[in-house]
Amino acid sequence: MTASSEQDNVQDHSDPSHGARLGFDTRAIHHAFDPADFSRAVQPPVFLTSTYGFESVAANDAAAALGGRLYAREYNPTTEILEKRLANLEGAEAGLVVSTGMAAFGTLVLSLLSQGDELVVHKTLYSNTVAMVEQCLPRFGIRVVPVDLSNPNNLDAAITDKTRLVYFETPVNPLSAILDISAIAARAHARNVKVAVDSTFASPSLQRPIEHGADIVLHSLTKYINGHGDTLGGALLGDAETLHTLHETGLRYITGATLSPHSAFLILRGLKTLSLRMERHSASALIIAHMLEAHPAVAWVSYPFLDSHPDHTIAHKQMTQGAGMLAFGLHAGFDGARTMLDRLQLLTRAVSLGDTDSLIYHPASITRARQAIRKDAHLIEGVGEDLVRLSVGLEDVSDLVADLRQALQDL
Ligand code: PLP
Repeated sequence: MTASSEQDNVQDHSDPSHGARLGFDTRAIHHAFDPADFSRAVQPPVFLTSTYGFESVAANDAAAALGGRLYAREYNPTTEILEKRLANLEGAEAGLVVSTGMAAFGTLVLSLLSQGDELVVHKTLYSNTVAMVEQCLPRFGIRVVPVDLSNPNNLDAAITDKTRLVYFETPVNPLSAILDISAIAARAHARNVKVAVDSTFASPSLQRPIEHGADIVLHSLTKYINGHGDTLGGALLGDAETLHTLHETGLRYITGATLSPHSAFLILRGLKTLSLRMERHSASALIIAHMLEAHPAVAWVSYPFLDSHPDHTIAHKQMTQGAGMLAFGLHAGFDGARTMLDRLQLLTRAVSLGDTDSLIYHPASITRARQAIRKDAHLIEGVGEDLVRLSVGLEDVSDLVADLRQALQDL
């Protein structure tokens, strides 16, 4: 490619095929934004408007026919750039962004499923997704069927003629178990059922589920894609027809969970450095995983790119690196985890993940604290009382290792 044609490609943002020719980082920085449309601003402006005026009633008719360019719950120019860019990076035809990852899940299931339908899910999911499928969906007559998808054959018995969707995370929160996207998608498609994958723990920089056969990808944009711990967001990416439904019914009137344009701007900014950050998160996490594995106080470590990880072959098949999430347990169990967390001086004790700052938490402690308010609060399937979840940030890895070592001393 000559220098001038490369330049043309960068400038030609209306050409839907240029995404196939440019690299991931170039698209993460430029796709779907033409400065000529915005007074040559180099960065996308933030449009803080709740509604759009129209020149005439006829113009309004035309805008309505275009599908919702009338009101900011359904349309915003900054948000639209983010939707197109994320869709391009995932290899999807279309995208929808909403206010949180949970809003994305709510928009997905409440738009695509109706009373009497069935949803097959992996047995372990993010805790609030578990709350949604256990406590909310059954109230609306949607039957949820939890299955161990670490063996994709289990799908065959779980799918019935009422199944509308198979939903799972990979890597799975919080243990970073890995599920085989292509094997699960092949079985679901053989029964005419769509597959949606929560790829939050990987981001499109490390894993693109659609390339492995998934139909829809969900992200909590709060995590790696924004990456800076300063806003919430969620996304759904997939085929144009499904995304049209999710936009026109799901966002417009079922959830109304619009992303703020300022958040869209922040997430577009974070996205520009996604692959640089993911390389560093992954490299540091692997170093820390090896350090923990060799430490006498540590009973077990789960990180997808460790040879000891039971699913590391599948991880290497569908991910380019292991991301920054790891889980481990100490011989000193529940009490040891609490002592270690309190000794930490650099790593931040906090939930969430994917930020520049390293974040560490102990789910069993939080569950016990919650039980004081909600007696039915419980650890999700597969999570033990000893599990510590670590989101490795972008600090110098030597400083992170030193902080963990001093916290683990004599435990
Ligand atoms: N999916 C996964 C895997 C998560 O870890 C989370 C949050 O931790 C969510 C979805 C929900 O995202 P949000 O917090 O943006 O609602």
